[in-house]
Amino acid sequence: MAFTQQQIENWIKQYPLLQDVVSLKPVFWQNPKLQRMADLPHLPVTLTDMEEAEALWQRFAPFIAKAFPETAEAEGIIESPLKPIPHMQAALEENMGLPISGSLFLKCDNDLPIAGSVKARGGIYEVLQHAEEMALAAGLIRKSDNYELFASDAFRQFFSNYSMAVGSTGNLGLSIGIVGAVLGFQTTVYMSSDAKQWKKDLLRANGAHVLECQGDFGEAITRGREETRQNPNAYFVDDEKSKHLFLGYSVAAFRLKAQLEREGIQVDADHPLFVYLPCGVGGAPGGIAFGLKQMFGDAVHCFFAEPTHSPAVLIGLMIGEKEKVSVQDFGIDNRTEADGLAVGRPSSFASGISERLVSGVYTLEDDELFKGLALLADSEDLFVEPSATAGFPGPAAVLKSGYPEKKGLDMSKVVHLAWATGGSLVPQADRERFYRQGKAMLR
Ligand SMILES: *Cc1c(COP(=O)(O)O)cnc(C)c1O
Repeated sequence: MAFTQQQIENWIKQYPLLQDVVSLKPVFWQNPKLQRMADLPHLPVTLTDMEEAEALWQRFAPFIAKAFPETAEAEGIIESPLKPIPHMQAALEENMGLPISGSLFLKCDNDLPIAGSVKARGGIYEVLQHAEEMALAAGLIRKSDNYELFASDAFRQFFSNYSMAVGSTGNLGLSIGIVGAVLGFQTTVYMSSDAKQWKKDLLRANGAHVLECQGDFGEAITRGREETRQNPNAYFVDDEKSKHLFLGYSVAAFRLKAQLEREGIQVDADHPLFVYLPCGVGGAPGGIAFGLKQMFGDAVHCFFAEPTHSPAVLIGLMIGEKEKVSVQDFGIDNRTEADGLAVGRPSSFASGISERLVSGVYTLEDDELFKGLALLADSEDLFVEPSATAGFPGPAAVLKSGYPEKKGLDMSKVVHLAWATGGSLVPQADRERFYRQGKAMLR
């Protein structure tokens, strides 16, 4: 245990909201360290890094289109639609008994190709980044070449001498395992005990090695990191500290900006954009928030959503101890049905940045996830996985918190954007079970 009981009691005195958090009550926390863009210090990532990350995606597009025919129509660009969801907005208003000013949109990362979740951004990016670095160093390719070469037998042969590993509750493993194996790497996924069987089966079917670990995500990642370190030809994708994952996620902001423009949606001081992001270690929501802040500055307000049983990033940011926090130290069990959010410790890389950029964090009970899933299915005929619905209680939580008044915002023209982080790979039987579970709770 990293902290003493005395330290924890002192923090609870200092931050009274922490008492509610350890009591597993849903809370809304406003970040007192949020900075205006003009006041930001130098961060460990920049807009230039984002532009370079986008350029890497562009170089690999011919490879992706070839290796994953489902992306051929989009010419190898992995992106998801942006959808207005007015019927869901009405359903939420009715369910919560609260009007939601402005309009509600869904960013459909549940539909991202290949990995079926937001991990298709960060995870695939990190694999490609590593593969490119190796191929360049070996003199196999130049950046001006056609990267379809990465789909050739010669390249697969080359990469088969190397391995790649990752610790995961499921979704990150899927993105790394699938792309790593297609490139030819020996890939190993260390799965936490809560990982779903179908994800392990799918990975094995794609040629990845799956190692089942006894404990939660923290134990899976620790074991993976240690075992990988002993192999000089192995690369470990480290979700607790990766800059590459972060940059892969951040590129979403360029794409969203273009989509908003196409929809004729303005974002500025008079037209704020509120974005609600399901949060695990904080890499995906942190990278996306960082990117959005680069695009829209102070006009975008980002909120992270965590399960009441896994509020790692919330506690880490609230008491300022970030990656030193593990929810278990606070007597919280890290048990939730939300795949990808069942994380006890925040990412060190992402937390140091999100600390200055996130407007707030709220928590929600698992029941709310299933209710959101059923409401979305009924109102818009869309399926997302339970964790991907964590954004839906966001508008009501933020409106009730008084945040808009404190910031002096006119909310009549606000756009609320819930980031749906996963779902398209979930098997039909699970979909039906989740839906029935949510439906029963709505009665
Ligand atoms: C991984 C994941 C998240 C959160 O990403 P982090 O980088 O862990 O914060 C959210 N939703 C889903 C479905 C995920 O798989």
